[in-house]
Amino acid sequence: MVHTSTDLPSPMPAKPVPVPSALTQPYWDAAQRGQLVLQQCSACATIRHYPRLLCAQCHSSEAHWTPASGLGHIHSWTVCHHVFHPGFAADVPYVLVTVDLQEGVRALGRWRGGPLAIGLPVRGRFELAGNLPELVFSFETTPNNS
Ligand SMILES: [Zn+2]
Repeated sequence: MVHTSTDLPSPMPAKPVPVPSALTQPYWDAAQRGQLVLQQCSACATIRHYPRLLCAQCHSSEAHWTPASGLGHIHSWTVCHHVFHPGFAADVPYVLVTVDLQEGVRALGRWRGGPLAIGLPVRGRFELAGNLPELVFSFETTPNNS
């Protein structure tokens, strides 16, 4: 049997890929364009994240998508040393942060920056890792952050 290069396993296992549902497709479509969007209740204007079928405040199922500022403050973080999936073997150690966005919801993303502190002002944006959007936070340096 002759093996060709196409028979060989990829040297880097692929990372797991988000599988959008009808509920989350608009979020991932915007992410692919580099935009962070949040679901907003059309009845009471409550922002919610992650996407859900019903508003936790008024139980309406009517919602739309609104652009997010990406601005927020560090809630917490963790340094990931363990490889839970082989697709991340080349990434460890890496830092994940939870950020309280100024829109009133909390988001999870990668950290690109120096030493962290709770309450540190940050800005999130989507970067493409290969063709996969990844939410990345870094120091916010503009004077108008809140
Ligand atoms: Zn509502």
